Amino acid sequence: MATQETDVDRFIDQNLITETLEEAQPTDGSRLDDLLAKARSLAGLKVAEAAELMLVDDPEHLAAMYETARGIKQGIYGNRVVLFAPLYVSNECVGNCLYCSFRRDHTKLDRRTLNTAEIERETRWLIEHGYRRLLLVFGEHPHTRVENLVESVEAVYSVSVGEHQDRIRRVNVNAAPLSREDFEILKPAGLGTFQVFQETYHRETYERMHPDGPKADYDWRISVWDRCLPAGIDDMGLGVLYGLYDWRWDTLALLKHAEYLMDRYHVGPHTISVPRLEPAAGSEFSTNSPWMVGDDAFKKLVAIIRMAVPYTGMILTTRERSEFRSELMEIGFSQISAGSKTSPGAYTEEEDYVDDTGQFELGDHRSLDEVMLSLCEQDYLPSFCTACYRSGRTGEHFMELAKPGEIQTFCLPNALLSFKEYLLDHASPETVAEGERVITEHLAQIESDAIRRKTEEKLRRTAEGERDLFI
Ligand code: SAM
Ligand code: SF4
Repeated sequence: MATQETDVDRFIDQNLITETLEEAQPTDGSRLDDLLAKARSLAGLKVAEAAELMLVDDPEHLAAMYETARGIKQGIYGNRVVLFAPLYVSNECVGNCLYCSFRRDHTKLDRRTLNTAEIERETRWLIEHGYRRLLLVFGEHPHTRVENLVESVEAVYSVSVGEHQDRIRRVNVNAAPLSREDFEILKPAGLGTFQVFQETYHRETYERMHPDGPKADYDWRISVWDRCLPAGIDDMGLGVLYGLYDWRWDTLALLKHAEYLMDRYHVGPHTISVPRLEPAAGSEFSTNSPWMVGDDAFKKLVAIIRMAVPYTGMILTTRERSEFRSELMEIGFSQISAGSKTSPGAYTEEEDYVDDTGQFELGDHRSLDEVMLSLCEQDYLPSFCTACYRSGRTGEHFMELAKPGEIQTFCLPNALLSFKEYLLDHASPETVAEGERVITEHLAQIESDAIRRKTEEKLRRTAEGERDLFI
């Protein structure tokens, strides 16, 4: 059934997606070359073309696909990797999603929504450990209405720490979809990306996974951006929870959704998240799903998304194991979480934090500094940059810059400046040593003499004590 806001079935035509998958033919060498050349031109891929690439199995052809995805990632994002942490505000939930440990029927879980003072305390801890970007996460509950979202975002921005008055500079939110009126209330709080994962686009599976509660309404969830964008919030975070249904089907539907947003609003998703189903306390389904996605298929889908929507940021979380995270970053991701804890209050209260108090089990337990060090050792440039948002480069404007790869002009210098702050204020001696090497090497890569000189000057001012400098 279609909603009043949008004709959902028009852009996610369930039968058409199934047909596209069934009709896709394996590619021979020359067809593959054509598709990869198109991807390399940053023109993106049509949904039917992505379906063809899903059939690639030959190891050499797969290697060519990964190399193409890697080249696209490098061309647009370079070696930069943006880091963030989730801050779980609430695990109270009226939802009963079969895969999540916050589900209503999981009665053994201690439920809690942080108050303003507790949010501020968690925020202070995160700032003191070097974080500058947070994702606030909420269950769906009367305690997490829009007013609570606004209060939480404001509480995070209100905290300043130490002589440099360090602050969180970007707050993203992952919460249940809002009405247009509620998005209008939220906007002035100054949030960054609003994330809503469709979980699965396959309507029948969606309805089985969400047996009751507000989330049972597929159309309300999928039409979230048709309320969010008109309310003036244009950084949208889309996602699929891989493991609920056939990864091929859901990836095509996700790409369709992105296509629809581009066609209708001229703004693609700001980010795409690809969480994989992890074991969750109180959820039998989370370990029994018939649709679990193996590492090889996961790598393939990441490469396909990277080629199909080259301008979109991709987010990798600590759900994935540390060794595999390094491999995946090569082919597509531009943002990663690090040092995450997934229960409310866990950063400041739970010294012996274990996953079964959180939302699901994590695969990467390293601290932020350990992740930073390992990124530097692989020649990545860790970044906390938020300059674009604060200079108004969001939504459609961001896309215009990101598409031809021009975002590099701003991003490389700003990544260097935000990383320098981390090295000066928070890093271990090993990370400082590796990090300074990474800074020197990347500074040399800035092509414009004028921008390089400006960056050098701001790095020097940062070393002398100034903070939050950007280009
Ligand atoms: N309650 C809001 C909602 O459902 O949209 C937002 C918060 S929910 C805590 C954030 C995301 O966690 C969900 O959208 C889902 O994709 C993911 N998630 C839930 N259970 C998971 C599991 N067992 N493994 C991995 N990710 C999971
Ligand atoms: Fe609640 Fe969201 Fe978890 Fe569903 S996924 S149970 S709505 S927190």
